[in-house]
Amino acid sequence: NDVLSLRGIEKRYNRGTPAEITVLRGVDLRIARGEVVALVAPSGAGKSTLLHVAGLLDTPDAGQVVLGGQDLTGASDRRRTAARRMDLGFVYQFHHLLPEFTAAENIVLPQLANAVPAAQAEARAAALLDRVGLAARANHRPAALSGGEQQRVAFCRALANGPQLLLADEPTGNLDPATSDQVFGVLMELVRETGLSALIATHNLDLARRMDRVLRLDAGRLA
Ligand code: ADP
Ligand code: ADP
Repeated sequence: NDVLSLRGIEKRYNRGTPAEITVLRGVDLRIARGEVVALVAPSGAGKSTLLHVAGLLDTPDAGQVVLGGQDLTGASDRRRTAARRMDLGFVYQFHHLLPEFTAAENIVLPQLANAVPAAQAEARAAALLDRVGLAARANHRPAALSGGEQQRVAFCRALANGPQLLLADEPTGNLDPATSDQVFGVLMELVRETGLSALIATHNLDLARRMDRVLRLDAGRLA
């Protein structure tokens, strides 16, 4: 009962040119329901490429991507976009919140894009913000929030549509160590409470050790 299954994933850039580079050379990865997996890799090892393939943002040159039991390897853009919206949550090093909208609105908007009724979307945004300790910040715009607060709002946004799998790329990499530790704790609590599966890339080995399993990406393969 895997939430994500990657089989034999290969990815090259600049194919057929002198600049061709093979980033992934046969990556196999299975994430079970409720499992939280750390992805550790030196910069340039292909961590973002792997997250983009798993997140249906990029297509591999070979291999299979199965999400929630559906083989989406050769699926149309429409199906991939639908799967991204319904089943996946994304978090990045930088929050990428919309600056003109409040914290609450940033969590409401992706739900409206999924045809959730406004009142229900607003209630969910309020509950999520309350859960991460930001009820009093609901009507602030991102610029008025601290880095740790912005990242907590980004977590709420990623979970707004109740995804099956969270994909996170250095989710606390832009924060100072103490804030990073605290904010990462909030993320882990949210993930555990919702029974969500997660693939979380991090350079921080202390954070990686708090997950169920640690995978290292090295020379295009996982170990
Ligand atoms: P990481 O996230 O581990 O730092 P990336 O997945 O971003 O690594 O990149 C892995 C390698 O692929 C790097 O050498 C990078 O320069 C190269 N690369 C990434 N994206 C592209 C692209 N769109 N075109 C060409 N090369 C790329
Ligand atoms: P929408 O049109 O509603 O923004 P998308 O299909 O563009 O829907 O995005 C679906 C999900 O994929 C969103 O969570 C978005 O953050 C993420 N996403 C889309 N494009 C990219 C990208 N190029 N890099 C990273 N994440 C992306």
